[in-house]
Amino acid sequence: MTARTPILTGGCQCGAVRYAVFAPLTNSALCHCRMCQKAFGGAFAALASVSLADLEWTRGHPRLFDSSDEVARGFCANCGTPLTFAYRGRDYLDVSLGSLDDPSAVAPEGQVWASSQMPWFGHLHQLPSRDGDDPGYEDTVAAVAASSHQHPDHDTANDGPDAWTPRPSRHWTGK
Ligand SMILES: [Zn+2]
Ligand SMILES: [Zn+2]
Repeated sequence: MTARTPILTGGCQCGAVRYAVFAPLTNSALCHCRMCQKAFGGAFAALASVSLADLEWTRGHPRLFDSSDEVARGFCANCGTPLTFAYRGRDYLDVSLGSLDDPSAVAPEGQVWASSQMPWFGHLHQLPSRDGDDPGYEDTVAAVAASSHQHPDHDTANDGPDAWTPRPSRHWTGK
C-alpha cells in the first residue's frame, strides 16, 4: 500500500489530536444553529465535509459528545478544540475549518440555519478594527508569543526525540 499524500492537515490547539484529509473538502458552510453556537462557544460554526475514507487521525482521536441522538461532535479531550460534526450512520463527517493548519484553505460556500444567525453578523465589516491587541498589552502579547503552547500549523513528530508533547490541561483552581 502506498502512503497517500494529504491535501490538508489539521488538529486541535494543544496538538494531542491531529488529522489528515486526502480529498478536497466539500459542502463548506457556516452553521448558525444554536447547537453549533454552543458547541463552538462562538457565533457560528465553520465546517466542511470529507468522506470517512478520506480522513485519517494521525495522532490521537477526538472525544465525542452526542449533542442529540443523530449527531456526534468531536473535540480534543485535553484542550477542548471543536474538531468534527457527524450525523449518525453517514459515510462522511465535517471538520471545523478553524482547526485546519491553513484555516484559509477552504472558504464557506453557504450558510445554514440563518434564522438563528446573530443579529450583528451582517455588520461585521463595519466594526472598528486594528491589528494586534489593545494598546497597553504589548508586553503581554510578547510574553504570549514567547511561551505559546499552541501546536504549530504543520505536522510534528509523533515519537522520537523531537516528538510534540501537548501541554496537559489543568483543573480549575480559582486562578
Ligand atoms: Zn488538544
Ligand atoms: Zn449547526
